[in-house]
Amino acid sequence: MPPSTDTVRANYERIRSEVGPEVQIVVATKYVDADGMEALASAGVEIVGENRLQDLEEKHARHGDTFRWHFIGQLQSRKARDVSTLCELVHSLDSLSAAKRLTAPALVEVNLAGEETKSGVSSEELPSFLAEARALGVDVRGLMTMPPITDDPEGSRPHFSRLRELAADNGLAELSMGTSQDYRVAVEEGATVVRVGSLLFNG
Ligand SMILES: *Cc1c(COP(=O)(O)O)cnc(C)c1O
Repeated sequence: MPPSTDTVRANYERIRSEVGPEVQIVVATKYVDADGMEALASAGVEIVGENRLQDLEEKHARHGDTFRWHFIGQLQSRKARDVSTLCELVHSLDSLSAAKRLTAPALVEVNLAGEETKSGVSSEELPSFLAEARALGVDVRGLMTMPPITDDPEGSRPHFSRLRELAADNGLAELSMGTSQDYRVAVEEGATVVRVGSLLFNG
């Protein structure tokens, strides 16, 4: 079922009032198809984040001028160039092979808890990764993280706080952190960008 404009608008406006005017809200659109994007446009959503190139291409072909496009999914190197042409920001750079092909500005994804199943550069590797990505010409604007899954938003706080420290240590301004369940905590810890999906459609 496509999302209703009224539901999306009410949730989006509530989230906007909670995070304040300075924080970017990227709406994660993996839950909706190209038709469903209409409701987001009517609800006043400005920035959308896609996880897969194929979905990005399909939605961009229909709604390219309506939104600003970000990429938040796992970035495969062979798709990095195509993603770059459609997106103003890539949140999930974590390999030098992708960095070689990337032309859009990027955030580096950090795997803070060293979770083996999760993408992202480790905090130990971050300084050398940043130096090498920059040497390849990538415009690195900041850091992104997906903290370990927890029932309690407070469980994410130490990870968000650590990401802020890492960004400060490396002279980076942008912090993409916080999803539906923990975006309030993320903003308290200095997020400049939150990525919200499910709450907008169901909340
Ligand atoms: C889906 C997704 C989100 C949004 O998560 P919700 O829990 O739906 O708010 C944020 N970031 C990434 C990378 C995602 O894939």
